[in-house]
Amino acid sequence: MIICRFNEDRLGVVQGDHVIDVTCVLNSLPKYTYPLPSYDVLIANLPSLRPVLERAAESGPRFLTQEVKFKSPVANPGKIMAAPVNYTEHLAEARDQSELNHGRSIEEIQNIGLFLKATSSLHGQAEGIKLAQSERRTDHELELVVVIGKTGRNVSRDDAAAYIAGYTIGLDMTIRGPEERSMRKSVDTYSIVGPWLVTSDEINDPSNLDMSLHVNGELRQKANTKELVMNVGALLEFATSFYSVHPGDLLFTGTPAGVGPVKVGDTITAAIDQIGSLSIQVT
Ligand code: MN
Repeated sequence: MIICRFNEDRLGVVQGDHVIDVTCVLNSLPKYTYPLPSYDVLIANLPSLRPVLERAAESGPRFLTQEVKFKSPVANPGKIMAAPVNYTEHLAEARDQSELNHGRSIEEIQNIGLFLKATSSLHGQAEGIKLAQSERRTDHELELVVVIGKTGRNVSRDDAAAYIAGYTIGLDMTIRGPEERSMRKSVDTYSIVGPWLVTSDEINDPSNLDMSLHVNGELRQKANTKELVMNVGALLEFATSFYSVHPGDLLFTGTPAGVGPVKVGDTITAAIDQIGSLSIQVT
């Protein structure tokens, strides 16, 4: 199943070229009281809501995908985790280019671990990327993003699949410079996900997905997730050896080689096999 959030926070199911409005299903969510859960309540309830979603999709209002404005398919992730230098060729380019490393030695992911991006940086396809610190370089980073499906701690890589709700396309937008990653990558609008969430049962093998990124039609990044240093299962094992994950948490799995700068007016198109493609404006 493919799930999206569109226009004024409508809930949708995507089928082919159409989005079917199934917002009525949100009435079936449990009623929460203060303090509200620190996870995404839609993702948390997805397993039980799924038959209700399927029924609603048989009769809901239909729109063409080109007609709607896609927001992040996860509205309230409790945290956004991200993997640095998780493709060998990107590690090599980061070590080679002073504009990327700013004089720091670039360590391997096994040594430096994961980092977190502020949830306030989350944006969807229709909302655009708003460049900040305009005199500095902002780069695109194409990434497969994992959407966590249930709470887990110390999850082994062999059990990881049971904790994954689905997958989406991510852009880990990044200001280059000397600050910590968590600051340079947490600018408002610098965590793009979308255009929708594909549930994990529709992805044959997350470790074998072709991906590509174009800027104004020019190919910048092309890779396959089989080139990941730590694959999805290994990343989830690594993450949960330090902290719990909860429904709706996002895990950016790292970018392949080919990162580069964007400027105002650019259109970024990112595609991942079996998920789809995301097209976004830089403003
Ligand atoms: Mn990244």
